[in-house]
Amino acid sequence: MPYKVRTRFAPSPTGYLHVGGIRTALFCWLLSRQNKGQFILRLEDTDKKREVPGADEHLMQSLRALGLDFDEGPDVGGTYGPYRQSERLESYRKWAQKLIEKGRAYADPTSEEDLDQLREVAKAAKKPFLYREHRPTRPPQWDGSQPLRLKSDPKPYTWHDEVMGDLSTGPEVVDDFILIKSDGFPTYNFSHIIDDAEMEISHIVRGQEFLASVPNYLNLYEALELDRPKMATVPHILGPGGNKKLSKRDGAKDVLDYVRDGFLPDALVNFIALLGWNDGTDQEIYSRDELIQKFRLNQVQRSGARFDEQRLIWMNGHYIRHKPIDTLHELSKDFWPPPAKDSPDEYKKRILALVQERLKYLAEIPKLTNFFFEDLPADIELINSDKVLGKLEKPLLRELLVKSRGAIESSDFSLDHLNSTLNSLLEQTSQRPAVLFSLIRIATTWAPASPGLADTVNLLGKDKCLQRIDKAIVLLEK
Ligand code: GLU
Repeated sequence: MPYKVRTRFAPSPTGYLHVGGIRTALFCWLLSRQNKGQFILRLEDTDKKREVPGADEHLMQSLRALGLDFDEGPDVGGTYGPYRQSERLESYRKWAQKLIEKGRAYADPTSEEDLDQLREVAKAAKKPFLYREHRPTRPPQWDGSQPLRLKSDPKPYTWHDEVMGDLSTGPEVVDDFILIKSDGFPTYNFSHIIDDAEMEISHIVRGQEFLASVPNYLNLYEALELDRPKMATVPHILGPGGNKKLSKRDGAKDVLDYVRDGFLPDALVNFIALLGWNDGTDQEIYSRDELIQKFRLNQVQRSGARFDEQRLIWMNGHYIRHKPIDTLHELSKDFWPPPAKDSPDEYKKRILALVQERLKYLAEIPKLTNFFFEDLPADIELINSDKVLGKLEKPLLRELLVKSRGAIESSDFSLDHLNSTLNSLLEQTSQRPAVLFSLIRIATTWAPASPGLADTVNLLGKDKCLQRIDKAIVLLEK
């Protein structure tokens, strides 16, 4: 059979996906696309206590929002389904039965309390707890009411991890772990092995938290007489401080929130790919196709990758700056402030062209552009708190505005003419741009920041500008 690359993303539906979760999905997706293989979504929903209603839909939506389309999965089907573990219980029971018949699995009659006590004893003796040291000599017949455990065959292992390299462990880490819990659901440790085999998965890419269990998995593969997929362990993503694993608790955001804030899928994918991977160059911007071509598991770093949201914001800004205006306009559709509702597309495109350079994510559009669509409240504080204007007398400011009004009124409002009008105003009034231009800027926008003055005034149009300047003149009389 030709070697096929089949990767899977196997989240538990216990909440949203943050960048860390989705990075595993992205690496799997890149690998499958690079090798013209398949990318599979499998929902590991066997821990009923931790399940969050709606999380499965949310996960699928997140993958799709980033363009990580899956070829097989719960809502697209596929020949290796079902793709929810809770619908595969038959399979697990069948394989469990095989192990029992081979004498490699047994019912565990130990009560929770006894188990706790055994753990306490080991702890007091400063020894690692190994269940196999307390293996019952005559285990009961397994009737499903007791946990089913693997009867392990402890031995040393050496294996190759595509990221971490060659690893080895001694027999002391291999134990009799639970395969099926007393609630009838399999453990992750058991179910993923069965599913990966039945789904013909070629590569397992997963987080570091599973690494310590690999020797147990290897033991189980042998007991089941199954070949194992290649394994790749990706390092933790560290919080901004660089010393702690990034977690939802320290504010790791839902990737869908980034999408809602107008982070572009390609920018997110680029940023997430670089959380732990680089191709040995200092390139930072990779198109999706380039990532598909260049991604290699053996270039994933072994130590933790630091999550830096500022870098994501910078990168998104880069993607925004490089979009043609028509595309940016298309992407911005849902981000305009309400008063822009009836504004013509051409007007919006011209505004976008002015703010594109500064725009970091699309949810900033209202803040940067609202004064083009509505009169903002004329707040004298904007003048008072200005480093330069705040020190000047109001009558002087008023006089400057009156002069500016005259000049602006007589301009033909072409961009060229406006520029020369503004420059001659500077000469006439013997003022610096920090005084005159700031004043006109505030009087025509009443916004904390705006694009270049001539561009802004030009786009606002003569009537609007004069109206607003008149109001400002009145305000300065008070
Ligand atoms: N269900 C596991 C998790 O959500 C999946 C680990 C794996 O990819 O095998 O962490």
